[in-house]
Amino acid sequence: MSVIKIQDWKKRHSERTAEADFKYSNKERGFIVIRIGDLFKPSRIKRKDRPKNLKPEMTKKEMWEELFLHIEFMKELYPDSDGRLCRYCHQPQERDVGRTLSPH
Ligand SMILES: [Zn+2]
Repeated sequence: MSVIKIQDWKKRHSERTAEADFKYSNKERGFIVIRIGDLFKPSRIKRKDRPKNLKPEMTKKEMWEELFLHIEFMKELYPDSDGRLCRYCHQPQERDVGRTLSPH
């Protein structure tokens, strides 16, 4: 399986990128809001043990759009799935376990 190019998919499906208000359950949405919020916390951005700040170059809205595109992309690859598959190994994401989206 080649590396998935979300940017290429985005160009081919530009009309669908407007669908950023995609449907999540409240539980999933809450989890993702917290995870994305963590990335923007000052304590995470300004770590003294790192040579430079880790401020995300994307906005929160762009992160949601990327996530939406990823899920749509995976649904096309695996129509029987809900699209919530790891970008790298294509296994289901275990989002309710541990700190990360895909701990495997
Ligand atoms: Zn994986």
